[in-house]
Amino acid sequence: MHVTQRVGICLISDRHAGIIAAASDPRNGWTEPYGYHRFCVRHIASNFHKTHKNMKAKNLLIHTASQTQKRKFDKYFKKFVQLDSEYAAWIGRIPLEQWALAHDGGHRFDFMTTNLGECMNNVLKGARQVPITALVRLTFYRCVKYFVEHRAYINAQLGAGNQYTTDIIEKIQNWAERAGGHQLRQFHTGLGIIEIKTQFRGWQARKGGNQHTVRLNERTCTCNKPQQYILPCSHVIAACASMHLNYTDFIGEWYKLRNQELVYTPQFNPVMHDDYWPEFQFPHVVPDMSKLRKKGRPKTHRIHNEMDITESSRQLRCGLCRQEGHNRKNCPNITRY
Ligand SMILES: [Zn+2]
Repeated sequence: MHVTQRVGICLISDRHAGIIAAASDPRNGWTEPYGYHRFCVRHIASNFHKTHKNMKAKNLLIHTASQTQKRKFDKYFKKFVQLDSEYAAWIGRIPLEQWALAHDGGHRFDFMTTNLGECMNNVLKGARQVPITALVRLTFYRCVKYFVEHRAYINAQLGAGNQYTTDIIEKIQNWAERAGGHQLRQFHTGLGIIEIKTQFRGWQARKGGNQHTVRLNERTCTCNKPQQYILPCSHVIAACASMHLNYTDFIGEWYKLRNQELVYTPQFNPVMHDDYWPEFQFPHVVPDMSKLRKKGRPKTHRIHNEMDITESSRQLRCGLCRQEGHNRKNCPNITRY
């Protein structure tokens, strides 16, 4: 409920029918403009590969989906559908805005996959198959550690006098350097409409040489980066310099360390000694002895696909559980404390 009462939340998931049904039911509060449901491109590419078994087409599909500019999306999409006549029909079943960044409308913030959610899975790694009390304890203490470490990192950054996260500072510096080589032509000073011609760069000058239109009043650029990332692209930085404006005004509030600090403000409290716990008021559940688990480790029923196997782990087979994709040191089927 904390999430669904807010407008413009982007939900990135796989295409599980249950998630699609839940997100598209207006009673759940996840329909637009409150929620924007987008799909994980890694999952789409994996499903595509399962059906068509074409690695080149799979990689091209990911590349197409990740383009910010519509003209570049069109270019790679054309190449993708030319590989096989069935590909257009396959991808056509998924709404365009739910898989292509260029047609997203600025909700993804450059997040194409569910990797962001999986970082929380990493925090809880190895906690899945332990008894329930150990699971709760492990989840609690790992969350505490996660908050303590992140709070300390942000405080250190603020102490060093930084206003934004280091990756944003690096990105902006990179674009600011590039902005120096752009040629500008004013079209309307009041509305901040400026045409930008970019310099050729890279080996044999294969990159650059493009033309973009910046509209500062609308905070847009035809490269689509300001709309997508809420950051000033090199074109906006160049336009701001010509109009004597501060380009940092075009950086989204979310990237400020002061705002990120708020994420880690809630405080976990240490658990008190058992003697101080309130008396348990609910009925006691008595285990059914006939339902006791048989000897040996229960089999996992999770369905693995090619997304579970990375290039480096492809040849590995675990010496403990005999499954492929990991070794005995990082076996997920063995409980460690
Ligand atoms: Zn731009």
